[in-house]
Amino acid sequence: MFDPFDRRITYLRVSVTDRCNLRCEYCMPEEGVSLLAHADILSYEEILQVIRAGVTHGIEKVRITGGEPLVRKGIIDFIKSVAGIEGIKDLSLTTNGVLLSEFAMPLADAGLHRINISLDTINPARYSKITRRGDVSDVLSGIQAAKQAGLKPIKINCVVHRSSKEEDAQAVAAFCKENDLEVRFIRRMNLENGEFGIVEGGSGGDCSECNRLRLTSDGMIKPCLFNDIEFSVQQLGPEEAIRRAVLGKPACGTSSNHRAFYNVGG
Ligand code: SAM
Repeated sequence: MFDPFDRRITYLRVSVTDRCNLRCEYCMPEEGVSLLAHADILSYEEILQVIRAGVTHGIEKVRITGGEPLVRKGIIDFIKSVAGIEGIKDLSLTTNGVLLSEFAMPLADAGLHRINISLDTINPARYSKITRRGDVSDVLSGIQAAKQAGLKPIKINCVVHRSSKEEDAQAVAAFCKENDLEVRFIRRMNLENGEFGIVEGGSGGDCSECNRLRLTSDGMIKPCLFNDIEFSVQQLGPEEAIRRAVLGKPACGTSSNHRAFYNVGG
């Protein structure tokens, strides 16, 4: 699939839930989060239909995200089903890592290729403050479990205020070097103000190279994180929603006012 700006669309990011076991200060409000009703969240079968339709039209790379994907029941069987779709060359998952000690091996056995783990600091007090309820030791043991399970490469997503020169980011970089992990630094973004930046050490943030579509957990295909355009797979069917999203993909992101990271899938 090529969009009107000649970008080949090969990458689908799938959010399986808007729920999360953390409340990172830059992502989700601490209290009073209005979550989707269970009835409004796509079933795994509906998500698989969208992925299959995407793959038929040239999607080769699929990333499972959320919310926190590991809090949705049945995630291992779902990953197994996705891994069984012929044509997917790269199947990855983004997680905060809190539940990885339990899930790393089953994920690898299910056919997941690789994993991205979010870690902004290795300082326990700072981690609890940023995530408002997390324990960094859970993530550190989750990372070891992912290594033992053979999920490779393991990439660490580190959100920074301004740059990778900050103290927490430098400590995360040193930790990654010692532990054979790749690190990517992502500047804190603000969807509403249209503040988005290049991802240091990874792809993302360069609109002219963007090859992505996103599927939200309530069944909308979004062609751009920084835009409110979206197409309902339940109203249009997966094929037509994907076709319209590709045709409607904007040249460049501007701002998005009605969704936050946790319900688009960062
Ligand atoms: N719960 C999973 C996790 O923590 O990785 C997956 C979903 S989370 C929304 C995906 C990524 O988006 C995480 O790496 C997170 O740090 C990033 N993210 C969330 N809000 C952000 C923001 N305002 N600016 C930059 N990155 C953000």
